[in-house]
Amino acid sequence: MQYQNTPEFAHQLDEQDPLKSFRNKFLLPKYNGRDVIYLCGNSLGLQPMSAKRYLTEQLTNWQELGVEGWFEGDDPWLGYHKKLTPVLSAILGANEREISVMNSLTVNLHLLMVSFYKPTTKRYKILMEGGAFPSDQYALESQVRFHGFDPKDAIIEIFPRSGEYTLRTEDILDAIKNNADELALVLFSGINYYTGQFFDIEVITKAAHNAGVIAGFDLAHAAGNVPLKLHDWGVDFACWCSYKYMNSGPGGISGIFVHEKHFNEEHNRFAGWWGYRKDKQFLMAPGFDAEPGAGGWQVSTPPIMLMALHKASLDIFEEAGGVSVLRAKSEVLTGYLEFIINNINLKNGKELFKIITPKEPGKRGSQLSVVCAGDAKGIFNYLTKNGVIGDWREPNVIRLSPVPLYNSSTDVFNAGRLLAAYVENI
Ligand SMILES: *Cc1c(COP(=O)(O)O)cnc(C)c1O
Repeated sequence: MQYQNTPEFAHQLDEQDPLKSFRNKFLLPKYNGRDVIYLCGNSLGLQPMSAKRYLTEQLTNWQELGVEGWFEGDDPWLGYHKKLTPVLSAILGANEREISVMNSLTVNLHLLMVSFYKPTTKRYKILMEGGAFPSDQYALESQVRFHGFDPKDAIIEIFPRSGEYTLRTEDILDAIKNNADELALVLFSGINYYTGQFFDIEVITKAAHNAGVIAGFDLAHAAGNVPLKLHDWGVDFACWCSYKYMNSGPGGISGIFVHEKHFNEEHNRFAGWWGYRKDKQFLMAPGFDAEPGAGGWQVSTPPIMLMALHKASLDIFEEAGGVSVLRAKSEVLTGYLEFIINNINLKNGKELFKIITPKEPGKRGSQLSVVCAGDAKGIFNYLTKNGVIGDWREPNVIRLSPVPLYNSSTDVFNAGRLLAAYVENI
């Protein structure tokens, strides 16, 4: 697309946007009495207008039914999680039995590693991207230690080549091949939180399998952002959170994917009664007998209020036509933001902004990570003071994420206009 850095052009894009009415389904925070320009859906998605109603419905069920709410009412809590899986399975590219909604993200990563990180004295290493989200680093280090290994030896991190910001797929594949005999697990994010790089999940999974290694993914920044086909790609396991692109509230409920090829294996698990086979759960018998499918990894009584918030958001995804529809708009918005930043980038022949997110639309989602020259924190504070909400990552990166459900091209233009004013005045 030939972009233009003008309000008329932005307006025209918005007029043609089939999703333009969806902005009205979300509550935008205010700053000085005006809606902010919210470019932070990669960190915490906005509240759907319907969230309060979904929550109130369950509070009313609780009020009116008490414990009977598990079995009575329009949405008995016992089966409430099943109402989430059709939309989620489309978002993740999985069949419904491969998905279970439960817990929070890092907890799920631990539970999945209990089952899928099975080190032996010869094969005990984990390959991951350098600069992964800290919680994942801590989780992996503690898992490795739990099995009696030293993280310094057992965790192989791969970093971009010198002078580069993102990883080349060929380097990931080489690292898998070169360490094949010692690897027990390849664990990557779907999209790196810092750079916004969308990894080639299918290719990484194939390479891991060719080396006889399990491939798992943390999809915190990918779920609800980019199209995924976990089942077809043969991914062994994955987990995600629902509060970033899936707008399900701070600390919202997470989910897991386990490929059906693993359903008939014996697994190590940290089990709980909610993962017991459903037809016999309430016999309260001794000896754990897992529910077939991903449901067997559930541990505890599901938090219905969090699930209600998740459902409010997933119903909007469904109404919008799913991630492929969102993705088309996301590419336009992200491309437009990139164009505008590059358009205002030069000051006296010097580059002010360097976008470290890959240029190819297929290698990124809705986020651009911008390294700022000079007073980076000053630029970030200036944006915030003028009602543009992005987020800051040390030492000098601003992440901006135009989200197709509630952002417009005019948002992108206005954020760019502010940046341009800042550049004028330095
Ligand atoms: C956001 C994020 C997390 C956060 O995990 P919680 O358990 O929800 O706090 C973990 N890993 C990645 C890759 C993330 O992007």
